[in-house]
Amino acid sequence: MPAPSPHHPPATPAPPTGALLERLLAAPGRRDRLTHVEQLPARPGVSVDWPEWVDRGVVERLGAAGVSRPWRHQAEAATHAREGRSVVVATGTASGKSLAYLLPALTAVREGLSARDGRGATVLYLAPTKALAHDQWRALRTLGLDDVRAATYDGDTPSDEREWVRAHAAYALTNPDLLHRSLLPGHRRWSAFLRSLRYVVVDECHAYRGVFGSHVAAVLRRLQRVAEHYGSDPVFVLASATVSDPSISGERLTGRPLVAVTDDASPRGPATFALWEPPLTAWRGEHGAPVRRSAVAETADLLADLVVDGRRTIAFVRSRRGAEAVATMTRGALHDVDPGLAPRVAAYRAGYLPEERRAVESGLQSGDLIGVSATSALELGVDVSGLDAVLLTGWPGTRASLWQQAGRAGRAGREALAVLVARDDPLDTYVVHHPEALFGKPVEATVLDPDNPYVLGPHLCAAAAELPLTPDDLARFGPAAPGLLDDLVARGLLRRRPGGWFWTRAERAADLADLRGIGGSPVRVVESGTGRLLGTVDPGSADRCVHAGAVYVHQGATYLVDSLDLSDAVALVTAASPEHTTYAREVNDLRVVAEVQRQAWGAAALVFGEVEVTSQVVAFLKRRVGTGEVLGEEPLDLPPRHLRTRAVWWTVTSEQVAAASLEPGELPGAAHAAEHASIGLLPLFATCDRWDIGGVSTALHPDTGLPTVFVYDGHPGGAGFAERGFQQALSWLTATRDAIAACDCETGCPSCVQSPKCGNGNDPLDKDGAVRLLTELVSGRPER
Ligand SMILES: [Zn+2]
Ligand SMILES: [Zn+2]
Repeated sequence: MPAPSPHHPPATPAPPTGALLERLLAAPGRRDRLTHVEQLPARPGVSVDWPEWVDRGVVERLGAAGVSRPWRHQAEAATHAREGRSVVVATGTASGKSLAYLLPALTAVREGLSARDGRGATVLYLAPTKALAHDQWRALRTLGLDDVRAATYDGDTPSDEREWVRAHAAYALTNPDLLHRSLLPGHRRWSAFLRSLRYVVVDECHAYRGVFGSHVAAVLRRLQRVAEHYGSDPVFVLASATVSDPSISGERLTGRPLVAVTDDASPRGPATFALWEPPLTAWRGEHGAPVRRSAVAETADLLADLVVDGRRTIAFVRSRRGAEAVATMTRGALHDVDPGLAPRVAAYRAGYLPEERRAVESGLQSGDLIGVSATSALELGVDVSGLDAVLLTGWPGTRASLWQQAGRAGRAGREALAVLVARDDPLDTYVVHHPEALFGKPVEATVLDPDNPYVLGPHLCAAAAELPLTPDDLARFGPAAPGLLDDLVARGLLRRRPGGWFWTRAERAADLADLRGIGGSPVRVVESGTGRLLGTVDPGSADRCVHAGAVYVHQGATYLVDSLDLSDAVALVTAASPEHTTYAREVNDLRVVAEVQRQAWGAAALVFGEVEVTSQVVAFLKRRVGTGEVLGEEPLDLPPRHLRTRAVWWTVTSEQVAAASLEPGELPGAAHAAEHASIGLLPLFATCDRWDIGGVSTALHPDTGLPTVFVYDGHPGGAGFAERGFQQALSWLTATRDAIAACDCETGCPSCVQSPKCGNGNDPLDKDGAVRLLTELVSGRPER
């Protein structure tokens, strides 16, 4: 839990343990919604002496900043790095991971000051966002080590300053995008910096996941190759949130072996963590399914109660519009109780101007604001902590960000409260009924796929443009590289000469890869009337995000899409504030291309392999913001899309179908329900989003000849999600079954088996049949 904040003494006396929660439970009907309470006891920290090798000046400055001794994990990780071993430190929020890299990095830089150019050692620090790099730079300045020449270097850095950084900085703070677009293609101008490169710091490395992570993996391999060219061999120091197998994902990211330090020795205050499930209402949704009260409305009620009590609280809401809705509903509730409190609640979200952001932050710190509803934008790089309570409106996407958000609550000697309010989807249902998913050992891994040919191909071109590729380079880029190079030569992108592979074209090779997207020319989103370009959308997801009638959100403002022209790659939009959100519904068809791995589970089989998916967006669903009520569905006429990707699938035999007491007529509904729920649960194991993956289920698939359920990666070439599903199949499919069984609806609802993106209108779905089918499937698994 975060450090104490001596400047802001508590406005109200501290309540006894659990009292904050009791306050929320006092309202009628609330107690039934509580599914679990976890009391997290205080934990004392374990500090150690400063390692011998740490520069005395650094120790002194840290001491002046209030760090008298390091926690054990900080010293341990720092010493690995000092001794030349690349390391990943994966510990909790506010556990001081930065010291793990600052100690070796600052020590090396200061030792190098006596070199001729004062740069005997340099450090490259990478953050996933510009804002975080700037925060780290400020923190470094605050230490007051004036002889350490540190500077940020990003898209906003003026060119004369860029020149200074290249010539003089010993500690450069930047992001992977800049490395990819500027530093590596222009490495000759960085030769002095690269020659002395001692450490590469990869902060918040769990942010590098999926396709983005796969791109960054290629960029880091290019960096190491270029560094070697200048004779350096930097040590990597990675900082990660608490995840499963941090050394495995760190190795996939960097391509080199890493030591993992995971034993968190920082202290923690006491906290109460409550899991909360809003009740089913009398509303009826699709096929008469009950509608659960929305997490947004439920959060607004809880926030209003905490504000009335004077408890400083942030409610984290995943979407910007959800954050606005929570603030509006909370202010509405307060109007009836104490109108003076309504202005003390504000919304904060990404897209706000820096001064707006600072006004909210300082209002919260001073106590002028008591309640804030925020998107996760506050998560990175902003110092807001020491709150009384944190409300989490739905699973925030990853367990790592959940703890990052919950960790904002807590002040020294005071109890902190966190409440996770479930949204109506299967993952949230599972988590609030299975507290071990949150409080037990993490099962979530940071997943990426460095071998994805669609990602790696453009980076091989970029690497060849930086320095011609030689056969010796290939091992670094993995087993897919040789085949890809042949392909790139055949397509005229690279030239094969006796000395290796060369980039000889006029354009910049680095422009072939966009780290935040994948392949093809992006679809432009243009405001009708003004012609202003608002942003771009990946061509592969344009039909889902910007189809006619879609609600498009940009920088917090909402637009309605007037038209989508795929041949011109442009979507025209108009500013609007509709009361609904939209969900594209698509139908999918799938062909097996090749099996990569297979496991027998008794008569059933689990397979990981390559597939060709054909998808078509056929309609979109409208749901009211705030309540989630279904307002209707409108058909769309869009062309099918083809995707070569990777999938995990399972098959059962007709004997197993009979053993699950499923009549042949019930099988399609059971398999379809299992497919929906398993897509919903995979993000618990692989750091993906429900929208990153898709599925197909059928009572008889032509390529397997059996009842089959497929779950595939929604990105060309795959992003590692399906592979992780294959590796964790038993836990994943067991959790899927348990999530369906835990829902208290009768025949299926959005909290268990209905999916908002189902192109078949959630029909047929057989909730009970899915539980029986999955039970039969997992019963055949091999004993371990
Ligand atoms: Zn249900
Ligand atoms: Zn479906």
